[in-house]
Amino acid sequence: MQRTVKLKLQPTPEQAQALADTRQQFTQAFNDVCAYGWVQTEKNGVRLHHATYYTEKAACSGLVSDLVIQVRVKATEALKSAFARQKAGLQVSCPQSRACPPRYNVHPYTLSWEAQTVRLSTVGGRMTVQFTCPDYAVKYAGLPVDTADALQYPDGSWWLHVVVTLETPAAAPTDEVIGIDLGLAHPAVTSGNQFLGKKAWKATEGRSFRLTRRLQSCGTKSAKRHLRRIRHKHARFRRDCDHMLSQQLTDAAAAGGTLVLENLTNIRQRMRARRKTATKRRMHSWSFAQLTSFLTYKAEERGVTVARVDPRHTSQRCSACGHRARNNRRSQSRFVCRACGFELHADLNAARNIAAKYRASRGTSSTGAPLSTGVSSPVRSVVRQHASPEVRDKLSP
Ligand SMILES: [Zn+2]
Repeated sequence: MQRTVKLKLQPTPEQAQALADTRQQFTQAFNDVCAYGWVQTEKNGVRLHHATYYTEKAACSGLVSDLVIQVRVKATEALKSAFARQKAGLQVSCPQSRACPPRYNVHPYTLSWEAQTVRLSTVGGRMTVQFTCPDYAVKYAGLPVDTADALQYPDGSWWLHVVVTLETPAAAPTDEVIGIDLGLAHPAVTSGNQFLGKKAWKATEGRSFRLTRRLQSCGTKSAKRHLRRIRHKHARFRRDCDHMLSQQLTDAAAAGGTLVLENLTNIRQRMRARRKTATKRRMHSWSFAQLTSFLTYKAEERGVTVARVDPRHTSQRCSACGHRARNNRRSQSRFVCRACGFELHADLNAARNIAAKYRASRGTSSTGAPLSTGVSSPVRSVVRQHASPEVRDKLSP
């Protein structure tokens, strides 16, 4: 599996200028290739290469061959995605970039983890740039490297996004299945009776939302400046929460286990919060996509699988008897079954249902044994006639 490690470059002013010039030529070539591909409706990499390589090599004299090839690779990706969107009926135009980060394939750069230096090809020739490795990435140091992109962040700093390859842990799959109910009052509840994340997150979200709304309705110049600043702050807060929560969830499962989530893709379209618009608003703004992407990569590193199930009825069904009714859920947190009287925290009940749903889809019971599904309905009715009352109850759906 592959990971992207972000290394902060420490270029001298001349090196920073060389990087900026390289990016400028790279961007120019990228836009040229895209324009050609767009006009010719060409998205085949080989044909684009033959059509554009020599002209771009001549136009951008500072770029080494491999960078010119990477221009075409990036342009091909952009054209393919643009044509795919066009085919899907979406409005598209020719891909264009104002600052396309140069991509270094394995050849035009050499990275030394020990010396913390990277040797890069630029329009000003090859140069050795110092970098610093952030704390989180120290565990990736020393791994074989793949491609790298040189990016300049809005604050002017230069970063190298390096793709590293690490071994996938070989964990034999176990029967452990943990259902996860994602929510707002409790960020995550697992079928293993764990309540993860912090309740305070919801209040912070609410405060930040109210502040944003006040500033938006104000509309002065300083309010707009303030808005820009808190937007980034807000995004950082969420990323932090999602990192924490995904780590806690990954830790909840042992290697070889399975974490099961509700499939919350397109939640905005499917969501039906009829009464409380506040819930609806928070639901719509929470970044489930970011959380699941963090969770997926963290779980993969530990040898844990992440699966998804259909979210329908998981909060209405009784995890003890299977009875489903909308009014089983009495309040935000209280679940009482109308049929059997089973009472549990509502999110915990939902988490258990999610785990059960996954097991049912895999055809295994909670102990991991295969479900007996061999009895056909006529046989079942005969069995029912001769069965004791307890067995008869089990047989009825
Ligand atoms: Zn029940």
